[in-house]
Amino acid sequence: MKDFCLEELEAFLQGMGKEKYRAKQIFKWLYQKGAVSFQEMTNLSKEFRAELEGRARISSLEAAHTEVSSDGTRKYLFILEDGLSVESVLIPDDDRATLCVSTQVGCAMGCRFCLTGEFRLQRNLRCAEIVNQVCAVLKTERITNIVFMGMGEPLANFDNVVRAVKIMVSPDGFQISNRRVTVSTSGLVPEIGMLGKAVNVNLAVSLNATTDEQRDILMPINRKYPIARLIEAMKNFPLPSRRMITVEYVLIRGVNDTLEDAKRLVKLLRGIPSKINLIPFNEYEGAAFKAPRQESLDAFHRYLLDRNLTVITRASRGGDISAACGQLRARLEKENGAERGHNG
Ligand code: SAH
Ligand code: SF4
Repeated sequence: MKDFCLEELEAFLQGMGKEKYRAKQIFKWLYQKGAVSFQEMTNLSKEFRAELEGRARISSLEAAHTEVSSDGTRKYLFILEDGLSVESVLIPDDDRATLCVSTQVGCAMGCRFCLTGEFRLQRNLRCAEIVNQVCAVLKTERITNIVFMGMGEPLANFDNVVRAVKIMVSPDGFQISNRRVTVSTSGLVPEIGMLGKAVNVNLAVSLNATTDEQRDILMPINRKYPIARLIEAMKNFPLPSRRMITVEYVLIRGVNDTLEDAKRLVKLLRGIPSKINLIPFNEYEGAAFKAPRQESLDAFHRYLLDRNLTVITRASRGGDISAACGQLRARLEKENGAERGHNG
């Protein structure tokens, strides 16, 4: 059931000879009331419910493990039906609570600084597996914003991500404003264009470098879609009104953290309504890079501010539970799928 967006559910029900409006009723049960069985759907007749039971099922995810950081960040580990697992992170912040969702187990993009990338791609998540991360967290927490910045490259799992986004922003689904949903990408240029046509949400781009030489090394996807093409795709992206593209820039010591880099960044982003998210590289065991020195981080930040750019340095939230958004790494071993414990 949760693999359908509203239009697809309508078509499915019409194929059963049912009225179209039933889809909205079912959506409300699934995403607003957290129903886990058709029996709960009391505004559907008993016969209809039985029929649905025969033809479909309602999946759900339950956190096998939750870690709460001293700053309130919560990391959830979900074991999937095939034993693989993914993580989600909830980051509370004043009046906001942002859920960071995963879209793939592992990632095929192979960025040199990313722990998820080291695992290669195991598989795409189904739409149901993406929205079930939201359902599971909603059982006990409030969610105001959603970012697709967990494990995986969202635009490499395009159809399921678009379905999940539609369910999130639907008035009959999770009812989250499209202005509060952000899809992050390493720069799949054709899919950025397709995303803009399919849904109206915010875009975040992991730029991380300002020359093709640098970016080719850090993010191999750049060899296919170099910076100029990525910038062009960003310029053409139809944002929700008065919104800006988030430009993520992971600062790595001695690699991309000089004022020369900052200067090139300013030049690249000219004409793009953007806000820059500076992320100090998060060191992990076996990583080939180091976090930037505080001085370079401050200087980089100040350089951008002085040129009237919107810039924030993302504090590494949930550091004590290795939950920083975008550095998730769930256990992938099938045999040990149910094993609990720290995985940082
Ligand atoms: N695949 C998508 C979304 C998930 S990664 C993308 O790349 O945009 C989310 C963010 O985490 C990206 O901006 C990425 O650059 C960043 N990231 C990955 N590894 C990191 C690390 N070790 N330290 C800091 N940020 C990292
Ligand atoms: Fe994949 Fe994003 Fe990590 Fe690159 S940064 S390997 S695209 S998850």
